[in-house]
Amino acid sequence: MFEYAPAPESVRPQIKEHYGLFVDGKFTDAADGADFKSVNPSTEEVLFTVAEAGAADVQNSVAAARRAQEAVWGPMSGAERGKYLFRIARLLQEKAREFAVAESLDNGKPIKETRDFDVPTAAQHFFYHAGWADKLAYAGLGSDPRPLGVIGQVIPWNFPLLMLAWKIAPALACGNTVVLKPAETTPLTALMFAELCQEADLPPGVVNILPGAGGTGAALVDSAVDKIAFTGSTAVGRAIAKSIAGSKKRLTLELGGKAANIVFDDAAVDQAVEGIVNGIFFNQGHVCCAGSRLLVQESVADEVLARLKDRVTTLRVGDPLDKNTDIGAINSAEQLERIAALTDAGSGEGAEVWQPDCDLPDRGFWFRPTVFTGVQQSMRIAKEEIFGPVLSVLTFRTPDEAIAKANNTPYGLSAGVWTEKGSKILWAAERLRAGVVWANTFNQFDAASPFGGLKESGYGREGGRQGLEAYLDV
Ligand code: NDP
Repeated sequence: MFEYAPAPESVRPQIKEHYGLFVDGKFTDAADGADFKSVNPSTEEVLFTVAEAGAADVQNSVAAARRAQEAVWGPMSGAERGKYLFRIARLLQEKAREFAVAESLDNGKPIKETRDFDVPTAAQHFFYHAGWADKLAYAGLGSDPRPLGVIGQVIPWNFPLLMLAWKIAPALACGNTVVLKPAETTPLTALMFAELCQEADLPPGVVNILPGAGGTGAALVDSAVDKIAFTGSTAVGRAIAKSIAGSKKRLTLELGGKAANIVFDDAAVDQAVEGIVNGIFFNQGHVCCAGSRLLVQESVADEVLARLKDRVTTLRVGDPLDKNTDIGAINSAEQLERIAALTDAGSGEGAEVWQPDCDLPDRGFWFRPTVFTGVQQSMRIAKEEIFGPVLSVLTFRTPDEAIAKANNTPYGLSAGVWTEKGSKILWAAERLRAGVVWANTFNQFDAASPFGGLKESGYGREGGRQGLEAYLDV
C-alpha cells in the first residue's frame, strides 16, 4: 500500500461557543434554561453547548410555525416559495466547504464524504424541490393539492444535514412550515442551516430548529402538528406510530434496514468488491440502507472474499478531516458500545471474524472495518441492524436460495444485485422485498428518485414526485 502524507483540511468554520433554539426566526434559550454539550467524536473534545428544547419550547415553535403557515407561507404563490428554496440551495453551495467541515467535526464522518456527498446532495434537494414549488398542480396528485399545515420532523445523526434537506425541502415546497429536531449528538449543521435561513430572509416561523434528546422528539410527536416525518430506529418509529394512532396526524417513517448485497457467479468481481466496500463501509456503516449482509454465490465466494480482504486492507481509518481518510470516527460512545456488543455476539455465536491490522487514534470512538464469515441466518449479526462498519457474509448455491435468504428479514429498505445478465437483474428485482434495488452499483441517491422502505423499514417515500404526496392533502 502507498504511504500518503496527511492532507488535513485547512478551512475551519466559525463555530459559536453556544447556540440557542431557532424559533420564529430568532435564536433563543430554552424556557427552562437547559442546555447540553456537543462532542467531536474523533477527539472527544466539546465543540459547543446548545440549548435543549423542552415541552414549552415545542409548543412555542409549533405556534410560530402555525402563524407563519396560515399568514405567510401557505398563501404565498408557489413561484415565490420556489425563489426562497433556490436562495437556500445557492447559499448552501456557497458555504459548502464550511458545512462539510462542520459536519465532519460534529459527526466524525470523513471530509471526502461530507464534501462530495452530504453537502452537494443536500443542496440538490433544495434545487430539485424549488423547481416543484410552482408546479404542484402538475405532479399527478390532483389539480389543487393543498399543504398539510405544520410538520414535525425528527432526524437521526448519520446524515445530519442531508436528512434535514430530505425533510425540509419537500415540506416547504408544498407550502408547509416545519419544526425539526436534529439528533442530540449532531445539531451543528442544523443550527448553521438556521443561520442560513436568516440570511435568506426566510419569513420567521417557516423553519424552526429544536435541538434536544429523545424527550424533545417525543414532545414534538405529541404536539399540535399535522404530520410527523421520522427517520431513525424501528423501535422509536414503532413507539411514534403507537402514540399518534387514533389522532388525525399523518405519519411517514424511514426506519432501519439489513440489506442483502447479492453477488452472482457471473458478476464482474472487481466492480462487485468496490460495491461491497461502498455498501457497508461508506459513512462507517451508519447507513439505514447499508449492504450489511453479503450474499455471495458459493462457487465464487473464495475469490470474492480474498479480493474483498485485500481491498479492505487499503482503507484508511482515522482523522475525519484528513482528505485521505476512508473511514472516520463512530458517532458516539453509545453507538460504539452497540457495535462492539453485536460483534461480540457474532463471535460468541461461532462466526469467524476478520479485521485488517490498522492503527487507530488514541482518543475518540473508532471501530476497525470488520468482516464476518461462516455466518448463519439465525445469528444476531445476520438479523439485527448493527449500524457500523461490520459485514456479515453468507453464501448461496441457487438464485432462488439467494432471494429466500435476502428476504428472510423483517426489514425491507434496500438490496443490491451484481450480475452481468440484465434478465437476472430484472428477475431478482421483481422478487426482492425492498424499497430500493440497486443493480451493479450501491448507495446511489438522487433527489428525483423516491426512497423508502417496506415491512419494518417504514412507510412513505422521500424524494421525487412520490415524496411530494407525503406533504400534500390530495
Ligand atoms: P433513534 O431512533 O433513537 O434516534 C432517531 C431520532 O429520534 C433522534 O433525533 C432521537 O433523538 C429521536 N428520538 C429518540 N427517542 C424518541 C422518541 N421517543 N420520540 C421521538 N423521537 C425520539 O436512534 P439512535 O440514535 O438511538 O440509534 C439507535 C439505533 O437505531 C442505531 O444503532 C441504529 O441501529 C438505528 N438507527 C437507524 C437509523 C436509520 O436511518 N435507519 C438512523 C439512526 C439510528 P436523540 O438523538 O436525542 O436520541
